[in-house]
Amino acid sequence: MKAEIERLKKERNAVILAHNYTRGEVQDVADYTGDSLELARRATAVDADVIVFCGVYFMAETAAILNPGKTVLIPEPGAGCPMADMINAEQLRALKAAHPGAVAVCYVNSTAEVKAECDICVTSGNAERVMATIPRDREILFVPDRHLGSHISAKEGRDYVLWPGYCPTHAHLTLKMLEDARAAHPGAPVMVHPECPKQIRDAADVQLSTGGMCRFARESAADTILVGTETGILHRLRKENPGKTFIPVSDTLVCPNMKKTTLENLADALREMKTKVTVPADTASRARRAIEAMLAVG
Ligand code: SF4
Repeated sequence: MKAEIERLKKERNAVILAHNYTRGEVQDVADYTGDSLELARRATAVDADVIVFCGVYFMAETAAILNPGKTVLIPEPGAGCPMADMINAEQLRALKAAHPGAVAVCYVNSTAEVKAECDICVTSGNAERVMATIPRDREILFVPDRHLGSHISAKEGRDYVLWPGYCPTHAHLTLKMLEDARAAHPGAPVMVHPECPKQIRDAADVQLSTGGMCRFARESAADTILVGTETGILHRLRKENPGKTFIPVSDTLVCPNMKKTTLENLADALREMKTKVTVPADTASRARRAIEAMLAVG
C-alpha cells in the first residue's frame, strides 16, 4: 500500500500533508507532518499540482484557500471537527453586531465561512504572538474555542468575549487522569494542549501546541514525558526521540475524525482524485485575508 501511494503520488505530482493527530502509518507516508500552523505555512510553499490533506475538513479548506490554483483532496470528506462546527457565519455575524467595533479573531479550527467573517486567525502555536499585535483598547471576540481563548486571555492579562466552543476530545481529560499519571511517573513533566480545560492546564507543567510539544520533547532534559493531547502525536514524538519515553496522560484521548484517514482511502484519493475540496471564491478571498494576516505575524 505504501509503494502504491508513492507511485500514485509521483504520477499525480502530489504532496501529502498530515496532521500530528493522524494515524502513525499515514504520518509515515506523508511528505510533511505538523500542527495547523506548520501545515498552513507548508501549504503556502508547496510545489505540486495536488495537495492531499490528511486531517480534518477545515484544514483541507485552509490549504485550498491558500492555494487557489491547486487541487486539494481530502481522503475522507466526513472527517469534520466538532469544535469548528460549534459556530457558523450567521452566529458570528450576530455576535459582531452585538459588539460593534470589536476585533473578530478565530482559531484556525473553524470553517471557511467563519474565517471569512474574521479579522485575523490564530493557531495554538502562534496565538500569543498574534493577539499581542491587536491594540489593547480594542474589544476582542474569540471563536470558537473557549479554552484556547481563556488561556491566551489570561497570559495577555485582558478579557476576551469567548464563544463557548470546545474540543470534545480534549474535554475527556480529567484532573484524576492527570494526577494518576503523575503518581505513576513521579518527576516526569506533563505537557498539555491549550484546548484542555483550565483546571487541566493549571495542573500541567507546560501548555503547548503539538508543534511546541515536539520542540519541548527535543529540548527537555527529562527522559520521560507525560503527554496530554490526542494520542496520534505519540507516534511522532517517539519516532523523533528514540531515547525518550512518552506516556499518554490518558489513552482515551482519541479524536475519531483524525483517525478517519487510512492508507486505503489515501490511496483511493490519489487514484480517483477525490474528494476535491473547494471554497466559494468570495468566501475564500475573505478567509484568505484573515489567514494571511496571521501568517504575516510569523
Ligand atoms: S482533536 Fe478536537 S479540535 Fe482537533 S479535530 Fe478533533 S475535535 Fe477538532
